[in-house]
Amino acid sequence: MQDVEFINGLIDFIKNSPTPFHAVETMAKILDRHGFVELDEAEQWSISDRQPEGRYYVIRNDSSIIAFQLNQSLPENGMRMVGAHTDSPCLQVKPNPEIVNNNYLQLGVEVYGGALLNPWFDRDLSLAGRVSYLDDSGAIDSQLINMEKAVAIIPSLAIHLDREANESRCINKQTDLPPVLMKMPKTDAEGTAKADFKEILLKIINADIETGDAVRVLDYELSFYDVQPPAVIGLHDDFIASARLDNLLSCYTGLMAMLDDDRRQNTLLICTDHEEVGSMSAAGAQGTFLKSVLERLCQGDENISRMIANSVMISADNAHGIHPNYADKHDKNHGPILNDGPVLKVNTNQRYASNSQTGALFKHLCELADVPVQSFVVRTDMACGSTIGPITAGEIGVKTVDVGVPTFAMHSIRELAGRWDAYYLYRVLKQFFN
Ligand SMILES: [Zn+2]
Repeated sequence: MQDVEFINGLIDFIKNSPTPFHAVETMAKILDRHGFVELDEAEQWSISDRQPEGRYYVIRNDSSIIAFQLNQSLPENGMRMVGAHTDSPCLQVKPNPEIVNNNYLQLGVEVYGGALLNPWFDRDLSLAGRVSYLDDSGAIDSQLINMEKAVAIIPSLAIHLDREANESRCINKQTDLPPVLMKMPKTDAEGTAKADFKEILLKIINADIETGDAVRVLDYELSFYDVQPPAVIGLHDDFIASARLDNLLSCYTGLMAMLDDDRRQNTLLICTDHEEVGSMSAAGAQGTFLKSVLERLCQGDENISRMIANSVMISADNAHGIHPNYADKHDKNHGPILNDGPVLKVNTNQRYASNSQTGALFKHLCELADVPVQSFVVRTDMACGSTIGPITAGEIGVKTVDVGVPTFAMHSIRELAGRWDAYYLYRVLKQFFN
């Protein structure tokens, strides 16, 4: 795949994936087009290591996905695995969200993950996620929704009303964040109409589903997102600016590498939800999803132990590029530069799973793919972030290396990456899968 096609595909992928649910749906559609067969965790699987061929994918909780291709005996050849995560920090709508203040309808929100909150102000926001409803036969069903148009905004307080804003404004998550959705219509002299968010959702659901038989909205997981689409920017088109680069960039890159591999190895891509809140959930990397899929593919403890011992995982999640305005936040010898290649992430306290052997493998893969490679180690006097690498390595015992493309503004509503780094990473992962 050429660079331009790759970057346009990445832009479309992120645009179509405002939530982990949509990211998984978008990936499943791409996998369907490439002949992958969906397996249902609740059904009997007929594949095993005795019948080692085929392309499959499995979804859990609509928000995590494992895709794999079997081409050789699993215990003897193991799996070449790539891991990433589908979730990003955001504002999630509360269960009883309606707030009416001065005739404005606002929605109460919880902060999901370690969001950088300042950039959420003065953005054109839309809403997307999963809604569960009761249909007219009494069954509970779920539907993904994406309002697409800008339906809300969190306006800043003007500087005239807070002269210290540039020096010391801080954000109260409870009171400063509820987005404004609309002006409430006046019903009569006494007051305004009552807002019912679930009624609004019911109309959207019934317009979305063919049967139109939703009777009542029971529950939902909805988050706000910025409607501004991703863009290649910079005087020389050096950068890609977008929401959710952490970590949809790695999901997309892993997926493209898998689709383009030469189908000689056993390969697997796992993209899980809830990394931003620690991965401890049924669908998260600390849950049973990967373990359960591998156990079903390799029947018997002996087989699975051999398979894992013969496997390697590349855990791909973005790294912090050295920011020119804040260069002292990095160790001078380990400050990754945007567009100078993917980053090998190392931490002796095992916040990253890389060791000298898996690191060497990654560096060698970069050499083979003719791609530059950089290293990141956090400043010794600062705390280190983490990712799914150590969790997956700890849960299933697979040799793992943590890597990722360098970015600025991680966890902002609009992050920045080098437009070449994603393509470099794609080439390395393709090399790995082959
Ligand atoms: Zn991440």
